[in-house]
Amino acid sequence: MRAILTFHSIDNSGAIVSYPIKKFAELLEKLRKSNIPILSLDQILADPFKQGVVITFDDGMRSVYENALPILKEYAAPAHVFIATAAIENTENIEQAITIGDFDMLSWHEIEQLQASGIQVDAHTHRHPDMRTINKEQILEEFHLSHEILASKIGVTPNYFAYPFGYHNQLARDCAADFYKASMTTELKPLSKNYDEAAIPRLDSFYFQTSNAINNLDSSMMTMYLKLRNAMRNVKGSQCKATAK
Ligand SMILES: [Zn+2]
Repeated sequence: MRAILTFHSIDNSGAIVSYPIKKFAELLEKLRKSNIPILSLDQILADPFKQGVVITFDDGMRSVYENALPILKEYAAPAHVFIATAAIENTENIEQAITIGDFDMLSWHEIEQLQASGIQVDAHTHRHPDMRTINKEQILEEFHLSHEILASKIGVTPNYFAYPFGYHNQLARDCAADFYKASMTTELKPLSKNYDEAAIPRLDSFYFQTSNAINNLDSSMMTMYLKLRNAMRNVKGSQCKATAK
């Protein structure tokens, strides 16, 4: 097993971006019992043969602090949280504040607490745009703003990036490659030995919600399932392109 897992919120609301608290604890227990290590991005990307799982959270929802952190601590598990800086409270320019669904977002104090517990803070733009729809100047502004805020609030220069919604094009990948060691997409597949550092695939928690999928994390059945889901998504994508102007 060599994969990067994507979560958003860890809570029991049943929302599409929510992963239940108990199942999150069960997943970590399952990984421990299966001797699958939980790694940082530095660790898994340093060695193409390294087996393990990386846990990532997109956006910066408060439940990462309230519900995921106690479980991560119990398992001494590292993780990454990709923060959309305009979604975090106390953003200086209030006009730029965005909301992500109905979710409470982390405070800067909570983000510092995550860092102190070994959770790495990384970049997810400032305003969370679909990067296929903005020009180079706007992409660079997103990166610069996000970096300025992360540096001034918590003294962090992010190494890694997650594309908002997982959407990217050649321009976004080229810009991200100049800024980050590696950039995460939502392309649904495990991490192979060879990959494009500007478009790293991840497995979204939505697709391994069922306990059966967790039990089969390491099996060829799971690989086939993921290939099938990816193929279906690609079909949908190309249909959209065919009809969109
Ligand atoms: Zn996001």
